[in-house]
Amino acid sequence: MSTNGKRVEYRTCPFCEATCGLELHLEGQEITLVRGDRDDVFSHGFLCPKGTALKQLESDPDRIRAPQVRRGDDWDTVSWEEAFAEIDRRLPPILEEHGRDAAGVYLGNPNAHNLANLIYGRVLLLALGSANVYSASTVDQMPKQVSAGLMFGTALSIPVPDVDRTDYLLMLGANPFASNGSLLTAPDLPGRLRALRARGGKLVVVDPRRSKTAEEADEHLFIKPGTDALFLFALAQTLFADGLVEPGAVGEHLTGLAEVEQLAAAFTPERVAPVCGIAADTIRRVAHDLAAAPHAAVYARIGTCTQEFGTLASWLVDVLNVLTGNLDREGGAMFTKPAAGGANTGGTPGIGRGVKFGRRRSRVRGLPEVFGEMPVVCLAEEIETPGAGQIRALITVAGNPVLSTPDGARLDRALESLDFMVSVDIYRNETTRHADVILPAPPLLARGHFDVALYSLAIRNIANYSPPLVDLEPGEMHEWEVLLRLANIVSGAGADADPNPLDDFVITQQVEKAVSRSGSNVEGRTSAELLDTLSSRRGPERVLDFMLRTGPYGDGFGADPDGLTLSKLEANPHGVDLGPLEPRIPEMLRTPTGKVELAPESLVADVARLRQALGRERNGEIVLVGRRDLRSNNSWMHNLDVLVKGKPRCTMHVHPDDAHRLGLIAGAAARVKSRTGEILVPVEVTDAVMPGVVSIPHGWGHSVPGVAMAVAAEHAGVNSNLVADPDLFDPMSGNAVLNGIPVEVAPA
Ligand code: SF4
Repeated sequence: MSTNGKRVEYRTCPFCEATCGLELHLEGQEITLVRGDRDDVFSHGFLCPKGTALKQLESDPDRIRAPQVRRGDDWDTVSWEEAFAEIDRRLPPILEEHGRDAAGVYLGNPNAHNLANLIYGRVLLLALGSANVYSASTVDQMPKQVSAGLMFGTALSIPVPDVDRTDYLLMLGANPFASNGSLLTAPDLPGRLRALRARGGKLVVVDPRRSKTAEEADEHLFIKPGTDALFLFALAQTLFADGLVEPGAVGEHLTGLAEVEQLAAAFTPERVAPVCGIAADTIRRVAHDLAAAPHAAVYARIGTCTQEFGTLASWLVDVLNVLTGNLDREGGAMFTKPAAGGANTGGTPGIGRGVKFGRRRSRVRGLPEVFGEMPVVCLAEEIETPGAGQIRALITVAGNPVLSTPDGARLDRALESLDFMVSVDIYRNETTRHADVILPAPPLLARGHFDVALYSLAIRNIANYSPPLVDLEPGEMHEWEVLLRLANIVSGAGADADPNPLDDFVITQQVEKAVSRSGSNVEGRTSAELLDTLSSRRGPERVLDFMLRTGPYGDGFGADPDGLTLSKLEANPHGVDLGPLEPRIPEMLRTPTGKVELAPESLVADVARLRQALGRERNGEIVLVGRRDLRSNNSWMHNLDVLVKGKPRCTMHVHPDDAHRLGLIAGAAARVKSRTGEILVPVEVTDAVMPGVVSIPHGWGHSVPGVAMAVAAEHAGVNSNLVADPDLFDPMSGNAVLNGIPVEVAPA
């Protein structure tokens, strides 16, 4: 590729789930300007301040550009060969002596935005064969994946609100004016929500904080943290009691409706109101409004997932969508039909194996595995606790669990005790400072980009591929190759093994599966023919081309000449709009019954735990919740001056009544203490947070030694996860409780 001279290129922003199109002005390898791509079929020119920071991220002097090996407190820059040789020298002996589980893996959030890592991270996990796999999913979204899996059959069969066509949106625990959508892919969600209201629709926000989204809503209801499931159940109870249940077209594909009615009976608005802090008549009114709206949707996100009843709350959101007849219909909560990699677009339409959890249990605490991974609340104890299966080595990929998971101080100590650690990362951060070897990712512009996961949750069917825009510089390596070389090392093939045969094996396996699968658009074709057609590409692009061609809009390798291929996406740099969402039940179901499982057994069993919470009134107690800022996504964004400059954002919001009662003074420091630790944080007094609740954003705390992030160090903030307790989690999903942590607060 020619990368000389000035040029304008287009690319999907890789920073959050909104998938905005960027217009990049380049001079050689350098970005000179970032704008929103007005011709992008999905974002139409929208972008937020984070998108423009791509320029700073690519040129950040603190980014690691070459492999690093730690020698005591010093770091040596080494060649790739030396780095892989070091890993080969130290990691396989640990596996040989202590078994595969002796190496753990932690995958951070940016992997969800990275085509190469989504494909080849899995290859690494298979090659390693360890039960100790952890990711940011269990501090974020696992409850929704579990409830979706149980109800619809696959982890990403998550209905998304049809925001552009709905008349009424009930939103819990989400703040898209700061963070855009989450498990809901939609550029410019703020604009879409304003449009909803402008056309006469209603937005109701339920949140312990009056967030920017709540300010923009028609109505905001403060709710006590951790009680969303109770509120949602009370809405369901009202719908049943007042004869408002009308599932509509989905009705004939349902099982468990009567059971849900029975379960809901205990959660009357009167019983729920004192616990959740929303008056009984308000709960009834919301239920009636929801039922009366021509098209309505309930949507809930992080605040409802990161709590002790996360899976129940996630389930009840979709129960309500069903009860009001809004599941799978225009303007309601609908399923995307993604162009590539959709779990509910392959296999037999309408039926599947469903999901199973707990096939393994964590060694120390016995927590069940979910979707092949262990809850990250277990990670530190699995490293610390001696015995067979103890984690002695760790591989992290694009993650900073010291800042993003509970009791970061304990995990920090645990990482220090490892025999070996290797990190694939762009920074030496609070976590990777413990690594023995850091392998850098190349510039973002050097890799192709396609949001295979996020387009599964989009409010329109969209496909948009961004090709690499710059060449690798000497000494840089594609992440897919890094991951394959790590896979070669852990599988015993060695550091010098060529990664290409493994890459060929990956695609061959997928092709062979497709040609032998009944109903696939290449059924009965020969693998050799398909592989030959794909042979001009390798790595993630080859896999993506295959996924697109065999996907629901694919060309079937020539069977439909108008169908989708990677070449077609390359010819459409602003993306391809595959149309609005359409009803997909029953074909998208992959449950063993072929029905929407409204009352899955394990969820029903968990309701008893929620019933006990009915008696719980936490008067006088202070609980901690998180907060997102428009300019911050994850911890790694804190090294970009354009995003962190200005007023410090890592502060604690506290209600004036609590500030007065506790003697807290605006601008002074407060001491926030829990079972696991304590932090000092500046106070902001505001009635935007409800009494009894304090709010601190996560991802901060960059003041520890050994971190090489100069800008972040100047805006260090505090790590709110030092007071997050690994003993608090949602037992269904293993997800950590990060909203509703009981804390003691006092002046520092
Ligand atoms: S909203 Fe998300 S995808 Fe869009 S520009 Fe901002 S960070 Fe990028």
